[in-house]
Amino acid sequence: MTATIAWFRRDLRVADQPALRAAVDEAGPGGEVVPLFVVDPRLLATGANRRHFLAGCLEELSGALGGRLALRAGPPELVVPRVAAEVGATRVFVTGDGTGFGRRRDAAVERALARVGASLVPVSSPYAVPPGRVRTGTGTPYRVFTPFLRAWLGHGWRPPQPAPDGARWLVPDPGPDGGPDDGPPAVLGPGDLLARPGDAPAEDLPVPGEPAGHRALEAFLDGPVEAYAALRDLPGTPGTSRLSPYLRFGCLHPRQVLARLGAGDGPAAFRGELAWREFAADVLWHRPDSAWRPLAPAGAHLRCDAGPVADERFARWSSGTTGFPLVDAGMRQLLAEGWMHNRVRMVAASFLVKDLHVDWRRGARWFLEHLVDGDVASNNHGWQWVAGTGTDAAPFHRVFNPEAQRARFDPDGGYVRRYVPEAGTAAYPPPMVDHGAERAEALARWEDARLAARAGGGGARA
Ligand SMILES: Cc1cc2nc3c(=O)[nH]c(=O)nc-3n(C[C@H](O)[C@H](O)[C@H](O)COP(=O)(O)OP(=O)(O)OC[C@H]3O[C@@H](n4cnc5c(N)ncnc54)[C@H](O)[C@@H]3O)c2cc1C
Repeated sequence: MTATIAWFRRDLRVADQPALRAAVDEAGPGGEVVPLFVVDPRLLATGANRRHFLAGCLEELSGALGGRLALRAGPPELVVPRVAAEVGATRVFVTGDGTGFGRRRDAAVERALARVGASLVPVSSPYAVPPGRVRTGTGTPYRVFTPFLRAWLGHGWRPPQPAPDGARWLVPDPGPDGGPDDGPPAVLGPGDLLARPGDAPAEDLPVPGEPAGHRALEAFLDGPVEAYAALRDLPGTPGTSRLSPYLRFGCLHPRQVLARLGAGDGPAAFRGELAWREFAADVLWHRPDSAWRPLAPAGAHLRCDAGPVADERFARWSSGTTGFPLVDAGMRQLLAEGWMHNRVRMVAASFLVKDLHVDWRRGARWFLEHLVDGDVASNNHGWQWVAGTGTDAAPFHRVFNPEAQRARFDPDGGYVRRYVPEAGTAAYPPPMVDHGAERAEALARWEDARLAARAGGGGARA
């Protein structure tokens, strides 16, 4: 009899889960599979919203496995080989993780597994096309989205597979010491293992788990998808899918979403947005350093403000009290729901970088702390795109005007009223900066940075 391990990470579902299926196939008839999730202590550094959502996803996953998810706490390079040794498994199946963090973790686990005579087997990825696969004709990575989109569509993806059936799930007993490396006893549930003292998750978080992801997909396909191209930019209208947290944690795979999209402008525009997610992961796969370093050379020379004045400005931005209603509405939506509409993410991010001259990384960290869909590839490349330091064709001189954006995308004021009811009254602060003046300042700083990069200067100035 063979036992295998399916180690879950960002793939918290049973349907169309190639790593799970591979573990079941390898175990064979009568064999057993350990469905394992490891609460890596580093997970505790992530924001309360994401940990809370993750705990709910794990509860759901465990339910889908008949209550037989093996939950262990501790560093994966200690826990995974320990479990492999306990059950005599020689193959541990995972969905590949191409982030810098994921690659380092998996390399450490691979080395540790080799010491107990086992190996790590990556299968598939959290993307329709694995990052790094789509290349230009000369084999180089794409740096601009539109040609990437064309090549990505041309590459295609296989249809989704159903959940494996007939598998026997095995949850090994961690023993009287409660688990490896003196971690907490495994009888604790995901909510306990992922909680931090003083946690206060946002009140309006989405319902976690695979079934909720499918419900959100059905609700979107039932109507909004047809008008997606026209409505996706209006934050006051429920015109987008709200699938991002489910894709982030793998409650849904993009293949499952793409397989359901028909023809027409709405589905085509939606496919394009899913491709942005894939593009961000592709860029990060080729340049893992770009999670926290500017892609564009001039970005390293951009002068940003730090110190008490910048701190005060950051505090007003993050609490949604800038006096710019669209920015404030977005930042308050983030605090209330752990989510923000894409159009407003762009405007709020632009405001921090180009009106307040604060380093994009500070904003990216705040977003990651609060977003339930917080994902280094999409978030940090979203920030780099807005900051003008990223991949694209969004040049630095494109500075979002928060008032013009509000008039255009929230014309009846419904979105702003929902989150900033006092906007337009004496209780609301006046604009904290003069947008025109700050825009000119941002452009001047960029010009300096560009010249410094061209002159071959040695890096960022404080
Ligand atoms: C500064 C900034 C930070 C961002 N941070 C994140 C993040 O941490 N996690 C995240 O998933 N998305 C992030 N995005 C992208 C985008 O804002 C969200 O994916 C989207 O708002 C999620 O809502 P939705 O599911 O209703 O989107 P929909 O409009 O329904 O889009 C469907 C799916 O396509 C993907 N998608 C859509 N737009 C983008 C985009 N611009 N980049 C990458 N993927 C996209 C998402 O997976 C999304 O769920 C960020 C964008 C910006 C400008």
